[in-house]
Amino acid sequence: MEFEEISTFLNTTANKLESCWDLQVISNIANQRIPDFIMGGRGSLLRADIYILWTQWFIESICDPDVFINSAQGYAHIVEAVQKRIPFIFAGVSDYERQKLTKFIARLIDKEVQRRRLRKRIYINLDDKKLLWDIYGPEPRCWICGYKFTKWAQNKFLGYSNYTEAPLPQFIDYMTLHGLTQRDISVEVDHAIPFSKGGKEEEDNLRLSCGWCNSHKSDRISLYDVGVRPRIVEHPKLGKHSVPHPFWIVRLLSVRRRCEHERGCDKNVDNAQFTVVSKHPEGAMNPTNLRVVCAEHDPLGSSRLVSREVAEQMRY
Ligand SMILES: [Zn+2]
Ligand SMILES: [Zn+2]
Repeated sequence: MEFEEISTFLNTTANKLESCWDLQVISNIANQRIPDFIMGGRGSLLRADIYILWTQWFIESICDPDVFINSAQGYAHIVEAVQKRIPFIFAGVSDYERQKLTKFIARLIDKEVQRRRLRKRIYINLDDKKLLWDIYGPEPRCWICGYKFTKWAQNKFLGYSNYTEAPLPQFIDYMTLHGLTQRDISVEVDHAIPFSKGGKEEEDNLRLSCGWCNSHKSDRISLYDVGVRPRIVEHPKLGKHSVPHPFWIVRLLSVRRRCEHERGCDKNVDNAQFTVVSKHPEGAMNPTNLRVVCAEHDPLGSSRLVSREVAEQMRY
């Protein structure tokens, strides 16, 4: 990319705090071609997630899945709602094509309703839990961050009674705050492949995740489902420091699932736990400045860990 192009882009798009309310400025920004360097090497994730969000907005603007989650109204009502809207969206298509589109979009909405219902009723029976636990081999780990479940977590998950108080860690990763609560270190079942991909509620559809990953994942799918700015925390050694939104970490870990050390590393979620670090320490920890690292390749070393008391104060 030429210098001219770079400066035109930055000039048109950056620092629009006041003028971004102006329609002309908006259309100038929209007409830009976004240069790759803006994405910090995360182009596919950043693009995919904004497309996912736009598509979600589009689908939900036709018929809101949330309305149907707790309602007795079923698929027929969704079809009816979609049928009303389709002629306005796709004016130039034949009746036959319109019917096809109606069916297609109604199915997408129905699947989204199922997906959200599924996350609400998360009850999995003990036999399924035992089966899942066995599938995961001798050292089950969270499928997203690679956290190795403790004996305590196993006992709690498999319903063995008289388990004692959770042995919470004394020192905590200030970037994630993983381990602040009992839930963080518990085993949970995640519906990794939602109904919308055609999965059924069978074991291949279910994965073990730690409570930290599962709670931050929730039913979010796109990076842009959460706030767009990192937070600042006060670190005892490093001073004021930027930390990413936990869902950004979960999203990035769940698509990488291995160490991103520059010189290569064979650690992945089956044999190690991961966290993130900034690519450039002076930069804000937004999704373009995050790198997945294993403990061995963590440039922060022991500075990453803070005492439980300090971590409590960094909580949201
Ligand atoms: Zn995890
Ligand atoms: Zn590594």
